[in-house]
Amino acid sequence: MNRPTDNGHAKNLGRVVPLPFDIDAAGWAFPVEGLGPGARVCLWVRGCSRSPRCPKCVSSELWAPGRRTPVREVAEQLRAPLRAAAGLTISGGEPFDQAREVLQLVRVVQSLAGDVEVLVYSGYLLEELSTVGEPARRLLQEIDILVDGPYDADAGDRLRWRGSDNQRVHLLSARAERHRTESDKPWDEPRPLRVQDLGGGEFRIIGIPRRGEAAQLQSAMNRVDCQRKPTAHGKGESWQKR
Ligand code: SF4
Repeated sequence: MNRPTDNGHAKNLGRVVPLPFDIDAAGWAFPVEGLGPGARVCLWVRGCSRSPRCPKCVSSELWAPGRRTPVREVAEQLRAPLRAAAGLTISGGEPFDQAREVLQLVRVVQSLAGDVEVLVYSGYLLEELSTVGEPARRLLQEIDILVDGPYDADAGDRLRWRGSDNQRVHLLSARAERHRTESDKPWDEPRPLRVQDLGGGEFRIIGIPRRGEAAQLQSAMNRVDCQRKPTAHGKGESWQKR
């Protein structure tokens, strides 16, 4: 009988055969601006093991695990929008909690959609991720951009692509080097924010509001009779009709 090994592969008659994984994904959207260069497909994954959690995290609705979906099914959903996108952003939650599954997703996406620039957010530092195990190390080798570090609402919110200015943008691949000048520029315009209709009277805010923008956002959602949906851990960025 085949037995899984630490790196998520099965040994079969001397050949290494990748096992299909299920990923805990919370949905995707396109086009998303502000979470990486250009208009991107953004996929959110559920589950965050960071301890302590980042104060004022805007994604608390994604802390708890949920339903898992076969990696291939998620990759198939992303295939068409990725044709028109500047790349794929994977956010959470904490994507590196599912490093094996995210790694497999990246590989399947590359095989289905071609040359896709992949950006991943993590609340952990690159130095921490480099030592947590083989799947995380491999994932770092296969993605183009990592935005790392905990979200700190007091650290400022002027730099592009970061949730807060303490976070760092690492250009990990040769092709990501084209973003070097842009990656450290401030984002002077308002941060791009979108409201995604999840169906059933639920809405998700896409993007990370600045401090002043959070109040504006709240009053705009009040006007359309929406309130933040309570989660097990407080109030996240999902909204629902009153
Ligand atoms: S910002 Fe990310 S890493 Fe930090 S608590 Fe929220 S989901 Fe977890």
